[in-house]
Amino acid sequence: MVTTNSATEAGVPAPAEPRPSNFIRDIILDDLKTNKYAGRVQTRFPPEPNGYLHIGHAKAICLDFGLADEFGGHTNLRFDDTNPSKEETEYVDSIMEDVKWLGFHWDGLFYASDYFDQLYAWAVQLIKAGKAYVDDLTADEIRQHRGTLTEPGKDSPYRNRSVEENLGLFERMKAGEFPDGSRVLRAKIDMASPNLNLRDPVMYRILHASHHRTGDKWCIYPMYDYAHGQSDSLEHVTHSMCTLEFQDHRPLYNWFIEQLGIFPSQQIEFDRLNLTYTLLSKRKLLQLVQQGKVSGWDDPRMPTICGIRRRGYTPEAIRNFCASIGVSKTDGSIELAMLEHFVREDLNKRASRVMAVLRPLKVVIDNYPQGQSEEMDALNNPEDPSAGSRKVPFSRELYIEQDDFREVPPPKYFRLSPGKEVRLRYAYFVTCTSVVKNDKGEVIEVHCTYDPATRGGNNPPDGRKVKSTIHWVSANHAVDAEVRIYENLFSKENPNHTEDGQDFTANLNPNSLDVIPHAKVEPSLASATTGSRYQFERLGYFCVDSDSRPGNTVFDRTVALKDTWAKIEKKQPERIK
Ligand code: ATP
Ligand code: MG
Repeated sequence: MVTTNSATEAGVPAPAEPRPSNFIRDIILDDLKTNKYAGRVQTRFPPEPNGYLHIGHAKAICLDFGLADEFGGHTNLRFDDTNPSKEETEYVDSIMEDVKWLGFHWDGLFYASDYFDQLYAWAVQLIKAGKAYVDDLTADEIRQHRGTLTEPGKDSPYRNRSVEENLGLFERMKAGEFPDGSRVLRAKIDMASPNLNLRDPVMYRILHASHHRTGDKWCIYPMYDYAHGQSDSLEHVTHSMCTLEFQDHRPLYNWFIEQLGIFPSQQIEFDRLNLTYTLLSKRKLLQLVQQGKVSGWDDPRMPTICGIRRRGYTPEAIRNFCASIGVSKTDGSIELAMLEHFVREDLNKRASRVMAVLRPLKVVIDNYPQGQSEEMDALNNPEDPSAGSRKVPFSRELYIEQDDFREVPPPKYFRLSPGKEVRLRYAYFVTCTSVVKNDKGEVIEVHCTYDPATRGGNNPPDGRKVKSTIHWVSANHAVDAEVRIYENLFSKENPNHTEDGQDFTANLNPNSLDVIPHAKVEPSLASATTGSRYQFERLGYFCVDSDSRPGNTVFDRTVALKDTWAKIEKKQPERIK
């Protein structure tokens, strides 16, 4: 079932401006009124560098940076790099690039690993206060002692070690005397707490692994739950936003802060972004990359920031989308169509219109002189008069879309068919007079005549009208290009819904990529550079892919002009104009 956030009705986006308020913004406004943090707003975005950022992170980024910006505050970028085995510099670099591309600038750049010395000192302080102990139980035994939601946990036999013994053992853990997993440091809180996170959580584990920043300095590493709240506190973060699954961890973060008597950051939880037909989990996206189900983290079908950037999405579209979905305190799911709506809306304003024919069918204008050509004026963007116009060559032989011709037209088909007249955009009215077929009986060439009185595509003096305008390119002037058409990466609305024994990859859409190797595009696109965005008239928005090479420009379809996917899925016949 698809539910939507309070800010919007299903598929009907709220206007992005002015910024709608939300409960987090209200908390900040209240804190400013009561002068809780002396008028300061300090936030942070805390990614773990174990994968590339995705559109869900964009929601968190827009919130962290957006709210601080609005109130003249500051935002830190902090890498939560407490797990050396999964973290890499490649991810750190990509995260910085993506945040910048989204249009945000961090104030401080920090790493949780910057705080390893301080975190260690605080752990010693807690041991001295009798609030932490070294436990020799195995991970399994700790789990067994933990109890359940309905049963209290059991104390570890090592729980009442003396402060001296704990200090000595912790020191030796740090010195590398013990193997991985043989001991941990635990907070001494309450094994009967109704909140499982407070049942003596592990603070440090032994892991003889090199860290991407601290190298081999440490062989004990703090757990995320021990590092996160104190990192916020060290940076004097006032409003620490995170997703709802951390709600039950908040009492633990507060416990550490109270025991240590340090700056009390306030954690506020909001709903994770879930999108239909999309998975937003770094772990699962990594699996797709590792198993070669996609070409990489930046495959244009991926919901990663680098994937959708390559596909042609704009930062503005993503920010408008995030502003529109708002935040709430319950998890739901947003329609992918809504994200696409914001992409279309933004590209409509900024993308130049061009003509491209994906599946070409030759048209010969019999009454147009052999060897002649002329240049037609074509508007670059009807939405933006300042974008000007360009010249598009016209000649006797053209290409149109195969779809724009039917030898036997179905009812209400107003495009080209024998005896029918249509407008060639910016050029002339043409009437189909005959066809040429191959051995298999397929139409391979359409013959037409044109009316010179309709130059520019204007209505002729006799007031004759046509019901359809189609796009075209001049056969001799057109440039070959590769076009990649994408559909949803998953064919199920919730890709996690699988039959027994299957995993989410069973829901991959086998038709998510359609490569058209020999499309024909107008000559102005010969010099199109990677990242340039266009509207191919009547077809959709396209972006020049980084796989382009001289002589072989590759275009990714960013988004179709209309939501063809939903139509196909509902099995409604496509509207024919
Ligand atoms: P993933 O499940 O994709 O691995 P994560 O929560 O482990 O995500 P982090 O790197 O820890 O990823 O996330 C950094 C920040 O982004 C956190 O504050 C987290 O709450 C937020 N975040 C992650 N995924 C989403 C999402 N889908 N929607 C909103 N915020 C998210
Ligand atoms: Mg995480």
